[in-house]
Parts: sequence; C-alpha cells; structure tokens
Amino acid sequence: LTNPQLDELRAMFHGPLVTREDPGYDESRAVQNGMFDRHPGLIVRCSGAADVIDAVRLARERDLLVAVRSGGHGIAGHSVSDDALMIDLSAMRGVWTNPAERTVRVQGGATLADVDRESQAFGLAVPGGVMSTTGVAGLTLGGGLGWLHRKYGLTCDNLIAAEVVTADGHLVRASGTENAELFWALRGGGGNFGVVTAFEFQAHPVGPTVMFGCAMYAAADANEILPAWRDWTAGLPDEVTSRVMLWSMPATPLLPREVHNRDVLIVAAVHAGSPDDGAPALRPVGRFGTPLADLSGPASFRDVQRSLDFMFPKGQLRSYWKSVTLNELGDDVLDVVLRRGLHRPHPRTLVHAPQLGGAVRRMGPADTAFGDRSAAYIVSIDGNWTDAAEDAATMHWVRDAFHEVQRVPSAAGTYLNFGGDRELDSATRQAAFGRNLDRLARIKRDFDPENRFRLNNNIQPR
Ligand code: FAD
Repeated sequence: LTNPQLDELRAMFHGPLVTREDPGYDESRAVQNGMFDRHPGLIVRCSGAADVIDAVRLARERDLLVAVRSGGHGIAGHSVSDDALMIDLSAMRGVWTNPAERTVRVQGGATLADVDRESQAFGLAVPGGVMSTTGVAGLTLGGGLGWLHRKYGLTCDNLIAAEVVTADGHLVRASGTENAELFWALRGGGGNFGVVTAFEFQAHPVGPTVMFGCAMYAAADANEILPAWRDWTAGLPDEVTSRVMLWSMPATPLLPREVHNRDVLIVAAVHAGSPDDGAPALRPVGRFGTPLADLSGPASFRDVQRSLDFMFPKGQLRSYWKSVTLNELGDDVLDVVLRRGLHRPHPRTLVHAPQLGGAVRRMGPADTAFGDRSAAYIVSIDGNWTDAAEDAATMHWVRDAFHEVQRVPSAAGTYLNFGGDRELDSATRQAAFGRNLDRLARIKRDFDPENRFRLNNNIQPR
C-alpha cells in the first residue's frame, strides 16, 4: 500500500490502522504465546462491525491473508501472522446483560473478565474458561471448558445467536432460526466461517459467591491422591466441576509459603449452586491426604475466574499444548499422568485433567459442530517454558507425552482449543470433529469457498 492509499483507508476506517512504522505496532501484534513474535503487514484495530466489514472487503479485493484476533490466547498462534492483514477485535469489548431474559450480548473482542464483570453484577454467569484474560471469541468457537461446564454445558452450548462478517464482506445473523447451518458450525467449528462481531449467550444464576475447592498437595503424594480423586469424581453431581493439575508453584505473595517453589498436585473444584450446598459437596477436596495448603472456601465467582491469571503473564511464556479426551480415567492413564506430571521439563509446564460429563455429555455429537461429547475426562499436556533454546526439546516432550496418552484404549478424541499445531493433520481433524467433518466442509464451501479464513484449525471447503 502506498501512503496515499493508506491515508484513504484511514479516512474510511473508524478504528486505527497500524503499520510497522506506527507507534503501538509492537503492542498491537503481541499475543499471549511468547513464541509468536510475528509481524503482520497491516493491523486494523476495529471499532465495530463496520470496520470488520471493510477489513474483510479489503482482504478480498487485494487477496490478503487474514488473521483474526480477539483475546489473543490461541495456543497455535493463528491470530498473528507475518505479512498478513490482522483483523483485531480487541478494542470491541462491550458487554450488555439483560437480567430479565438472562441473556448477555458480547462484542467479538471481549474477554471472559469483561463478561464476568457485567453478568455477575446481576448474579448471572456465562460458562467460560478458567483464565479471565482469554477471549470469548476463540473460546466459544472452539467449545469452551471451565468451572461450570458440567452444570451448564460448554460455552458454545450457551450461544443463542451470533453476528458474523462472512468472506463476501456481509454481516449475517446466525441463530436457531436464521442461517441455522452457520449457527451449527459456529458452535465448535472454530474461526472458519467468518469474523464474529457479536455473540448472544444464555446466562445462568451463579454467585456472586460460590464454593471453591482448591487443595495443594505435595506432588510426591499424587500416586495415592489421583486414584482417590478419580473415584470421587465418578459420583459427583453436575453442580461440581473438578480438575487436577500437576504443576510447580512460584514463590509469590499470592500463594501460601508452604507451596513456594514446590511441585504440587492441585485438586480444584467449583460448586455451581449455593455456598451452603457447596460446602459439604466439596469437603473431600482437602481430605484426599494432608495438603500443603488448602485454599478452599466460599469465594467470589469473579475471583475464582481470575485465580489462575497470575500463572500466565502475557507474552512471557512460550507454549505448546496437546490434549486427549478419554472415555475413562483408568489406571493406565493415571500412570502416564503421574509419570509425566512428576517429570515436567519446566516448572510452568503442567499436566492437567478436567472432568467432563454432565451437561456436556447430554448434547448429542451432531447437535453442534463440537463433535463427540461422550468423553468423561480430558488430559492436557501444557508445555510452557521461557527459553527459546528449549523450544524443540519441550515440544518433543509434549508430543511424546500426548502420544503416550493417545495409546491407551480409552483415548477418544482431542480438544482443539488446547491444541498448539499451526496445521492440523487429517487424523487430528477427524479426531476433533468426527462425523461432523463432512457437514462442516459443506458449510465452509457455502460461506467461505476460497478459504479466506484459513489461519485457524482449518476445514477445507468441500
Ligand atoms: P485468539 O488468539 O484471538 O484467536 C484464536 C483463533 O480464534 C483465531 O486464530 C481465529 O481463528 C479465531 N477467532 C478469534 N476471534 C474470532 C472472531 N471474532 N471471529 C472469528 N474467529 C475468531 N480454553 C478452554 O476451553 N478453557 C480454558 O479454561 C482455557 N484456558 C486457557 C488458558 C490460557 C492461558 C490459554 C492461553 C488458553 C486457554 N484456553 C482455554 C484455550 C482458548 O480457548 C483458545 O486458545 C482460544 O482460541 C482463545 O481465544 P482468543 O479469542 O483469546 O484467541
């Protein structure tokens, strides 16, 4: 683009256009995963749907590679790419709650913290993830697992409607009654079908205080605690969503001294009902052994949502993750979790296992694009480290651990939101979408025949 052409574009767009020469370029191109120091050709910091429409039309006219960025948490780094046009929605963070209808309207660039702030003011919550800085857009389009999924389903299960700028540069609405095929695809099919400028969600009465269970045990005790936790989760009501994490805690005033610089097994859970009902339900969290620290107790739901944020400072960790969904958590899986979890390559690397089931499982595999929901647990191998010299070795370790979990007989599929590969191989695509893949490829053909939106967990147009 020549300078006069850029001036013309600047006059058209309401939000700023950021080029390599502009101050703020480095800040605008930075994403969560420190591996991706990439340099887009042009960043459009959209102020609303009109800017998104014009950005998509610009990409179409000039045949530009498009990266779409909202919260910037994508592990695989699809939302920033060298020389591409970055359509950046991170300034579009408005959230409006309708307490009477229990619905929440969310602009495409909002974070989970934005949604929690506006919905908790009315005692409502939209199921999200476990870190408040994650973007609603990428999380929802890929599924969305957090502290409420067993009671209220995945984030995408709570989507009522979305507004999407499709590859032809038009804004369409998708819901159960309008563009229903597109609506189906948006619930798990990722960023393949256009740029979502707004989401409307069903919200649920949660909080403002919930019962939070969080006990930190010495990792050395994990061989006894992991099977006990697994057995406990088998009988849990849907109100409780629990997970375990093998991790190392930093020395920070945010944590009790007893866990500073220690390898720990964290047993964590949230009860999505009243704190009075939650207290007895979560009592076992701190009684699987003798915890180094037990942080369990009534907590503000927003604090729970923010409780892990400090472990992931933006841009400071290099990350590569892979996950396996499992029909059961047999001793064979726990063996791998334990062995890998006790010998992680970096203190910030973690091996964790959220329980699924409940409302997630009550939807059928073809009800949304998400695919198979029958799995009972996920095991995620989250490689996080700081030194670029360790990239190859850590990524190898993650892949190796992932393959080990994948080989157990109860292994089922994979969750792409916890996936770090830029290109999906066909086996991974199949493992994620199963029988929904053909339908997704047809919808892709109808809405993006030229695969304009291909920097994502890509589905080829059929
Ligand atoms: P971005 O990097 O902005 O976007 C990722 C991709 O989503 C883009 O490449 C694009 O393909 C698509 N996309 C983004 N915005 C739009 C849009 N407006 N329209 C169309 N497509 C779009 N996942 C969970 O389910 N539960 C968790 O608890 C959880 N915790 C996480 C914690 C951390 C620290 C991190 C890094 C990730 C976590 N994730 C979790 C994974 C997360 O859901 C995905 O990384 C998700 O893609 C992040 O969305 P984003 O908008 O922040 O990312």
